[in-house]
Amino acid sequence: MTAAPGSPSIRVLDTLTVNQIAAGEVVERPSSVVKELAENSLDAGASHITVDVESARGEIRRITVMDNGSGMVPADAVLAFHPHATSKIRALSDLHRSLTLGFRGEALTSIASVARVELVTRPSGGRAAEAWRVVVEGGEIREQGVAAGPEGTRVTVEQLFARTPARRKFLKSLATEISHIAGVVESLALSHPRVAFRLVHNGTERIRTEGDGDLRAVIAGLYGADLVRVLIPLTLEGAGFGVRGYVSKPSEHRPHPYQVFLSVNGRPVSSRQMVRAIRDGYGTLLPPHRYPVAFLDLRIDPAWVDVNVHPSKRQVRLTGERDLLEAVTGAVAQTLRGKDLMPEAGKGLLPVGGPARPVAVTVPPPVLPAPTWGDGIPLRVGRQTEQQLRQTELATGIVEDRVPLPTMEVIGQAGGVYLVARTPEGGLILVDQHAAHERVVYEYLRDLHSGGERSQELLVPLVLHRSPREAALLREFLPVLARQGLVVEEFGRDTFAVKAVPVVLGRTGDDSVIHEVLGDLLCQQEDPSVTMEERVIRIIACRSAVKAGAAVTLEQSQRLVRQLARARNPYTCPHGRPTMVALTRAQLDGMFRRV
Ligand code: ADP
Ligand code: MG
Repeated sequence: MTAAPGSPSIRVLDTLTVNQIAAGEVVERPSSVVKELAENSLDAGASHITVDVESARGEIRRITVMDNGSGMVPADAVLAFHPHATSKIRALSDLHRSLTLGFRGEALTSIASVARVELVTRPSGGRAAEAWRVVVEGGEIREQGVAAGPEGTRVTVEQLFARTPARRKFLKSLATEISHIAGVVESLALSHPRVAFRLVHNGTERIRTEGDGDLRAVIAGLYGADLVRVLIPLTLEGAGFGVRGYVSKPSEHRPHPYQVFLSVNGRPVSSRQMVRAIRDGYGTLLPPHRYPVAFLDLRIDPAWVDVNVHPSKRQVRLTGERDLLEAVTGAVAQTLRGKDLMPEAGKGLLPVGGPARPVAVTVPPPVLPAPTWGDGIPLRVGRQTEQQLRQTELATGIVEDRVPLPTMEVIGQAGGVYLVARTPEGGLILVDQHAAHERVVYEYLRDLHSGGERSQELLVPLVLHRSPREAALLREFLPVLARQGLVVEEFGRDTFAVKAVPVVLGRTGDDSVIHEVLGDLLCQQEDPSVTMEERVIRIIACRSAVKAGAAVTLEQSQRLVRQLARARNPYTCPHGRPTMVALTRAQLDGMFRRV
């Protein structure tokens, strides 16, 4: 739109447009609607909150949040949709005292600018015999009048983002959106054990908490009783703050900090610094790059907390944050000291009744000679590496010598990761052992056509309890996983049994690799250009590949390089990172000024 020359071109946006723009920050996706509405219910003092989601044909059609909170009188029910209308603060200074989750007065306005919203509310305490119903669409009140309804408030949101197609396009798969919603309800339930939450999706109850104030029971309900058994209670009282909750025994750790749940004054927040502070409390009790499970609620004088950092309020700024972080690290360390930190044996194994049924286990025959030591290079014997390499060799016959890449001979390894090879021309090639093997496994998986050889059945199925958020995602992936040989079946709410694993994973006795694969699936960002199948293959490839830092013999390194040489695209790993870097003879000569 260009204005005629000479005429003014700046104009004030109309209210609907302003609200739709603002909505972009508050209502990013369907789960934001759930978060805002459920937070309103909590602010209204509800003791029961039900979130009901209906989806059809891969899309969320309707979100309803129902509470038994204070309700609203008709005038407030209308005013609630006005921008910056709030009952929670009157001036900025109130924020320093406020413990409510809302205060900006923009959630209902924003949601109503990008959806059709129906609100039915009746004040509690017998102040009205009937409820008041308001329907708002495109930012305008379309209907209002007396209706039937219990005390409390019910908000129904439909046609979300129907008017903002750009936003709609950015929505992820239904599985992902539902799992985000479950995540929101999970965190709110964890930070409010006194409130009974229910999440229902298409008529099936996915989350239910009792609201009796027992955090352990909430955790058990969401993550399984096994997890509760490895949690240690933590309490800390400091000057002006307190911390309460649970941290896991060091034996229970995850590849990502996705089970560190933090809340500040009942508001779920994410904080990298706090995650680090908790982790620091474990010191060397945790392996590198692993994270504990933790559920911690911080009680801080509201005057110290600035939640007004971002409209979504997921981030908070704390006064005296350094002291608080150090106190948390100290409290975690103190809590772990002197505790029985012995890992639980047999966890996750299904009790077997009677004689084990016969199972077909594909054990690769040992056709390769045992690894031999390289000349004079002190490499440790890589037993695990041997298994991992062998899988791909056996299946593809890569063992035979056919090397289209520059001929290279591995002469050593640097940093536990980089294989150093020399070429006949006098150059050097550095190979990233993990990236290289990842590429090999990846192509092998892509080329496998029959399902039978992919899979090896577990003698004893591995039982996994997944959180509702994870279960929602996992459920959608089951068929894809099965096609790749990872056979997982759901039996009972959020409980899954791993029946068979891809042969390439090799180490069937080691269930941590299965946890890793599933953890990656649940934690990695979804890239819309990558199919579910491809995502699963990449993850399995990554987790079956020889790790950086794994012991590799010289002979094994040489085999790995030969396998890589047979790959169609030997130069990058499936994520596009280089597998090798060459220093040609000419480059070396240049560096030493020999030319
Ligand atoms: P905020 O929560 O920041 O005040 P909202 O737009 O979310 O802004 O809500 C506006 C107002 O509507 C709230 O301040 C509250 O008075 C009222 N309200 C919203 N939801 C509910 C509810 N479930 N029960 C009672 N009152 C509510
Ligand atoms: Mg609100």
